[in-house]
Amino acid sequence: MPDSVRHESQCTICAHPQREEIDRDFVTWASSTRIAKEYRLARTSIYRHAHATGLFLRRQTNVRTALEKIIERASEVKANAAAVVSAIQAYAKINAQGQWIERRETVNLNELFDRMSREELEAYARDGALPGWFPTRAEQESNQNAS
Ligand SMILES: [Zn+2]
Repeated sequence: MPDSVRHESQCTICAHPQREEIDRDFVTWASSTRIAKEYRLARTSIYRHAHATGLFLRRQTNVRTALEKIIERASEVKANAAAVVSAIQAYAKINAQGQWIERRETVNLNELFDRMSREELEAYARDGALPGWFPTRAEQESNQNAS
């Protein structure tokens, strides 16, 4: 019997009427404690199910969603500015597949984010607006080529 079939026959989540919601919550980084509480599940079954059905991988590629939530919340709550800045920096380094991309301009970006004021960071977190003095990617690349 293939592993996936054996898993499905024993798994409370696979047979759960709200399986789709549970899967979606998991891959969008809802906390497993909250999922367990909300759907009355054991956390161990959630992890077993996630391993067997490849949800971990899907969640990994969804890391941008988690960072987006942090960045979005920055305008609502008094978020710790350092946490917002690191979320923005991490977001800038992660591609759509959830892979961490180290780029040469990372150091420049760090310096640029450090130069942004609290208001500018909040504007960026709220609607992605960068301050006028922020160099465009093309400018950054030409600087790199020059150096
Ligand atoms: Zn399952």
